[in-house]
Amino acid sequence: MAEGLLLILSGPSGVGKGTVCRALLAQLPRLKLSVSVTTRRPRPGEEEGREYHFISPSRFQELIEAEAFLEWAMVHGQYYGTLKSKVRSALAGGFDLLLEIDVQGAAQVKRQWDDAVTIFMAPPSMEALKERIAGRGTESEAEIRRRLEVARREMAAYHAYDYLVINDRVETAAAAIAAIVTAEKCKVSRGACPNF
Ligand code: 5GP
Repeated sequence: MAEGLLLILSGPSGVGKGTVCRALLAQLPRLKLSVSVTTRRPRPGEEEGREYHFISPSRFQELIEAEAFLEWAMVHGQYYGTLKSKVRSALAGGFDLLLEIDVQGAAQVKRQWDDAVTIFMAPPSMEALKERIAGRGTESEAEIRRRLEVARREMAAYHAYDYLVINDRVETAAAAIAAIVTAEKCKVSRGACPNF
């Protein structure tokens, strides 16, 4: 079975990556979303093993020492990481795997996995981003300010990515990413060939 595509989606907090990912998963049956490990506390409604694996900082440290991570980074004061074992098993099973990770993690993966397809999602404007983060109602004023500051820095990293998608409407952004997946699978350099 052909190995699946490794896709990386980054973008500032509040840009709508989660919503677009859910729309994509509904459209693309061969696509799986990687579940990261984090030291941050679950938000209301989040479930262990669905959004993240929620672990302690000491357990995270053990996993770093055991070289269990394909990449890891500190984001907004908490640790987040992608386990190598999960990536390997998804791709070997012929699934495409989407990593929704920050710009530091994306750079680490791209260094090791030249074939990974990197997509940066940007908001239509900084004002729209601020409204989305505040509207979520899950972060304090100070946390919103911090996330906006990080967002400004993250936005500057978009030119290191293969593709840029503006999330104006969820359906349009999801359709753009689905088109990227289709185009990547048709690349001759990736092994696409006729049946003769
Ligand atoms: P949140 O706490 O809002 O779920 O996520 C905060 C940030 O952490 C987002 O930008 C998200 O892309 C990033 N993130 C989530 N999982 C990982 C991961 O496994 N590795 C890295 N490097 N970043 C992650």
